[in-house]
Amino acid sequence: MRDSPISATVDFEAEGVQHGFLKLPHSHDLSAWGSIMIPVTVVKRGEGPTALLTGGNHGDEYEGPIALFDLAQRLTAEEVSGRVIILPAMNYPAFKAAKRTSPIDGGNMNRVFPGRPDGGVTEKIADYIQRNLLPLADIVLDIHSGGKTLEFVPFAAAHVLPDKDQQARCVAAMEAFGAPYSVMLLEIDNVGMYDTAAEEMGKVFVSTELGGGGSATATTVAIGKHGVANVLKHAGILSGQPERHASVKLEMPDSRCFVSSETSGLIEYCVDLGASVEAGQVIARVHAVERSGSPPLDYRAQISGLFIGRHFPGLITPGDFLGAVAVPVE
Ligand code: ZN
Repeated sequence: MRDSPISATVDFEAEGVQHGFLKLPHSHDLSAWGSIMIPVTVVKRGEGPTALLTGGNHGDEYEGPIALFDLAQRLTAEEVSGRVIILPAMNYPAFKAAKRTSPIDGGNMNRVFPGRPDGGVTEKIADYIQRNLLPLADIVLDIHSGGKTLEFVPFAAAHVLPDKDQQARCVAAMEAFGAPYSVMLLEIDNVGMYDTAAEEMGKVFVSTELGGGGSATATTVAIGKHGVANVLKHAGILSGQPERHASVKLEMPDSRCFVSSETSGLIEYCVDLGASVEAGQVIARVHAVERSGSPPLDYRAQISGLFIGRHFPGLITPGDFLGAVAVPVE
């Protein structure tokens, strides 16, 4: 396979703190010989594990970029045993445009892994991460939130994996993150995900969904910052023990956890995030808006548990994710 067109202005093997860029050539109308400059920070001291910390996989999710831009300007080499690679905004064109996907090629970073060195810009970034950064990492933390169209209770996530030893290491890292909720997450569509790429490489991988609506709150940012520090302590890269917080453990046994809309209209949620729901309970009603006088269509939970995720905007269309219910364990 051809080499990546991306070059790093930092040396991942050098000791100390370096702030630089992943430089991706991108010729366009405003800059014929230009490049996309993706910020990256590397902090390394001595031998030890490597953590790869990423945010902005989707460009409209902010807890990750806030926690990681903040960590990048604070972290000193003296604090670190091993190496921390910080990529606050993986899909940098999407992040700069405040969009989920890239404004250049429409690429959804979390659907294009393992990427291509000769593909669109999003595939080129994915390919660089796949072949140059993931192999360096022992533990990978990818911080997501709901973005403009989704909202979640703040949770860290791991996946059910075929290798149960690897799964146990991912679960331990998820629990170390210390979000208010810890979810064994069922993915609707895991093909092309960064998660899957890292897990297939045998890495310890933790993801999150820390809020949503296309902004961040003081509470969700604090969860993100604590979580990053906790994962670095768990990995032995920062000294000290992770701060333990009570976390509600949840699992998602099957597709009954998800409810999608089959109609368009005005959505009226009947329960809020974090509420307990029973199978059959109405979680939302969708009002037709073409004319007045029609009854709303009810949408019901298909499984009993906690209501952990919802559509964020006030209007909904057929096929939109409407809600997720996860089942408490223990
Ligand atoms: Zn995301």
